[in-house]
Amino acid sequence: MNLIELNHHNGISKIFVNKPYQHLTELVDEREFVVITDTNLIKIYQDFLWKFKTIVVPAGEQFKKLSEIEQIYQKLIDYEVNREYCLIGFGGGVICDIAGFVASTFMRGLKLINIPTTLLAQTDSAIGGKNGVNFLQYKNIIGTYNQPDYVICDTNLLKTLPEKEIRSALAESIKAGLVYSEEFFVYFENLNQKISSPQNLISIIFEDDILENIIKTAVQIKVSVVEKDEYDVSNRRILNFGHTIGHSIESIYGMRHGESISIGMVTAARISNKLGYLSDYDVERIKNLLSNFGLPVDFIFDINLVMKLIEKDKKRSSDSINFVLLERIGKAKIAELSLSNLKNILNDLY
Ligand code: ADP
Ligand code: ZN
Repeated sequence: MNLIELNHHNGISKIFVNKPYQHLTELVDEREFVVITDTNLIKIYQDFLWKFKTIVVPAGEQFKKLSEIEQIYQKLIDYEVNREYCLIGFGGGVICDIAGFVASTFMRGLKLINIPTTLLAQTDSAIGGKNGVNFLQYKNIIGTYNQPDYVICDTNLLKTLPEKEIRSALAESIKAGLVYSEEFFVYFENLNQKISSPQNLISIIFEDDILENIIKTAVQIKVSVVEKDEYDVSNRRILNFGHTIGHSIESIYGMRHGESISIGMVTAARISNKLGYLSDYDVERIKNLLSNFGLPVDFIFDINLVMKLIEKDKKRSSDSINFVLLERIGKAKIAELSLSNLKNILNDLY
């Protein structure tokens, strides 16, 4: 078991990697717990969850909205929850987001333990204290910064996840290496040497300590970035590498988050190269690694549609965006790019 601490505006958030999730009650003394989870997890983990007061949200991103939050507040009132209670978010990114938002708003703040049950949430979305719900066409536009008191990442929870979810989540960890740690990227390249095909990647990472190492390193990188810029006003934005184009692809083509950002990262790598930063050789390294891991890299997307969505998503009227480039593997750079320039580069590249 490893403990990683995140220092934030309001104290310390403790993140455990490979602590058995069943031990969560040891963390907080003499408190009552309420668990927020979803309709899939309550079935799979009923042997554990039956002990708690639970609030079950329908599974799916479309339920991450204010009307659902109101129903949760109603249930908290029905359970007579007061500030002595500790809230537990038990689920993927959607549930951890909802639990974070509810914990920071109900009675102006309840203690929170997040138990992320997806690799994506354990390595990325459940770490860093951003939460949010969707409103109108905008993703995560209503939310707060609220660091959980504890996060428990237990790889045993990932055994019930479909392989595609694991593979897709690895894209986000590769991103952490690309923007912050060449060593972590090379770790993935070495792992790639051990696999004979994308199919046996998943069984190999469940062996030995590989998955635990990946989670630990991804969490450490996220913590280092967040501690320097908790409120996402400067350098935290490097974590958006691959996401500007990736998010658009995700909503147009309905691909998984990690698959979409895999395409977004290869595109952003090519844009970096075109602007004179990343070498041809490094663009190829990135593309090869993602593709050997079974992630999409050569998907032909509709540039006009993608650009339309980027414009619509901006929530403001200026015609430029902060675009994350790579100077080299392990070092990101944020550049202000006009939308017309971005469109021209994409048309040149594809
Ligand atoms: P993320 O955004 O972290 O990938 P989501 O919150 O969107 O995850 O959840 C994706 C789906 O996976 C949901 O339907 C959820 O119920 C399901 N899920 C989450 N964790 C597990 C798990 N450990 N085992 C099986 N299914 C899970
Ligand atoms: Zn992401």
